[in-house]
Formats: sequence, structure tokens, C-alpha cells
Amino acid sequence: MTKHRIGFGYDIHRLAEGEELWLGGLLIPHHKGSVGHSDADVLIHAICDALLGAISLGDIGMHFPDTDPKWKGVDSKLLLKEVLNKVLERDYSIGNIDATICLEKPKLRPHIDAMRSCLASILAIDIDDLSIKATTSEKMSFVGTEAGIKAYAVVLLYKD
Ligand code: MG
Repeated sequence: MTKHRIGFGYDIHRLAEGEELWLGGLLIPHHKGSVGHSDADVLIHAICDALLGAISLGDIGMHFPDTDPKWKGVDSKLLLKEVLNKVLERDYSIGNIDATICLEKPKLRPHIDAMRSCLASILAIDIDDLSIKATTSEKMSFVGTEAGIKAYAVVLLYKD
């Protein structure tokens, strides 16, 4: 009998002038970037939280606290690998992931497939099993004023 587990993740970061904008494992050219203790990659953080949620293992802040200098400026791809290992250790496989990034500027369409390719390769899944979507906030709220960026992710895990 196949056992399934669903997980949901959400993350948010402030945007600031002159910071780097790391998103989906890539450095996106833009005059503003996300502020955080790590490289502040909201998409990876949302996916990590979805994976951790699916195995009821808390959240990313619990495993990689922003008070620990060890994680200062860390490449979030390394965090994703560590989280994936926790999933695999429990004999779960990733069915599929669906994520949405909310960002006013820049347009992300030209970068989406490169992000999918980068993250699918880290997670060792088919690119067709990793969906990444992007939306603006129609100039409303903190996303719309370009004060911040957020991302949501859902994941389905299964164990045969
Ligand atoms: Mg974060």
C-alpha cells in the first residue's frame, strides 16, 4: 500500500536596494534583493518548509536557526539538500512540487525553467514534477510596492 503525505510551505523576505536576489537557486539580475540571514532564497525556503511539513519535522527556522552564525550567508541549495536527506532517511520519495512566487519586479518568466532545472537536479526529480509559477500583486500590498517577496509551495510525498 502506498502511503502519501502532503506538505505546505510559505516564506517571506524584505527587499532592499543593493542586495542580491537569489531565487530558486539562481542569482536574478535586479537592483533590489532579498534580506535575510542566509542568501534569503524565498522559493527554496518555502519548498524546504513544505518538505519538512510533509514529514512533520518542524520548520526551516528550527533546523537552521538565524541566530546560528553557521548559517550566515549560506547557499540555500545546501539547506534544500539537508532537508531532502531527512525525507529520504524516512523512506519517502517526492511525488511532485507546486510553487508560486509573488514578486512585482522583475518579470520572472525568463528564469522559471532555469530555476526548475536547478532545483529538480538537487532534488533528483524529473523537471515535470516541479512546477514554479510567478505572479505580481497588481501593485497592492508589500509585494506590490516592491517592499517584499513571498513564496508558497506544496509537496506530495509517497512511500511504497
Ligand atoms: Mg526565509
